[in-house]
Amino acid sequence: MIATRTTQTVQAAIRAQKVTGTSAEHFADLLTGAVIIRETMAPNMRVQVALRGAQQRGSLLADAHPGGLTRGLVNLGHETAAEVQAGPDAMIQVSRTFPSGALHQGVVRIPSEGDLSAGLMSYMASSEQVVSMIAVGCKMQAPDVVEAAGGYIVQVLPEIGEEPLRNMISRLERFKEIASLLASIDAAPEKLLEALLYDVEHTKLENTPVYFGCLCSPVRVVMSLVTLGREDIEELVKNRRSVDVTCDYCGTEYAVGPEQLKPLLESS
Ligand SMILES: [Zn+2]
Repeated sequence: MIATRTTQTVQAAIRAQKVTGTSAEHFADLLTGAVIIRETMAPNMRVQVALRGAQQRGSLLADAHPGGLTRGLVNLGHETAAEVQAGPDAMIQVSRTFPSGALHQGVVRIPSEGDLSAGLMSYMASSEQVVSMIAVGCKMQAPDVVEAAGGYIVQVLPEIGEEPLRNMISRLERFKEIASLLASIDAAPEKLLEALLYDVEHTKLENTPVYFGCLCSPVRVVMSLVTLGREDIEELVKNRRSVDVTCDYCGTEYAVGPEQLKPLLESS
């Protein structure tokens, strides 16, 4: 069982993407889901979980990295007033990047009457062949202010036996909607585990960090400008112009001057 508090992580990601309302809630849940899947299946890999909204309305991306760094992207499409629909018919795509660069991908449709948690469970069952119970949730204070966010995953070992399994499943039925519970316990993972396990004997194994962060840097931004093409770069250097670049993930603004562009001409 893994429980996580993602309140600050999703709050920072929501601010960076300037997203509000229902879309912000789904975005928060998707980020929490990516953190949980990464910790469960691939702690040493990058895990990306993308949600393509129902009726083609917008898309969300959660990008979770080894060590806990987590960030994301929101694309509301052309209809900026529309909210991303994370209910039935929305698609969830999970990608894991191996250190070698190889990619493992799985796609599922959120089941009818299901929500994001149901979609994540169906991904785990179909792509990873692991029966898991997952709930992610967040309680908002204002359209872009998170009061509490987090979630849990429970995976039952095959040797547990029928009765304890049935008991566990019926217990977890009461913890499908966890937003209010998270708010009442400040999303503290220990308290969430306590509530879920109640009188089940358990041992705490590990504590790992999760935080909002980005991987952009002046060097990476300069490298990304290689795509401009040699002629354009020469033009910019000649006219002593700088290029303004904003990171899609965190919103940091970079001004790349001619001096920084010059090395691109030497290396190509
Ligand atoms: Zn960035």
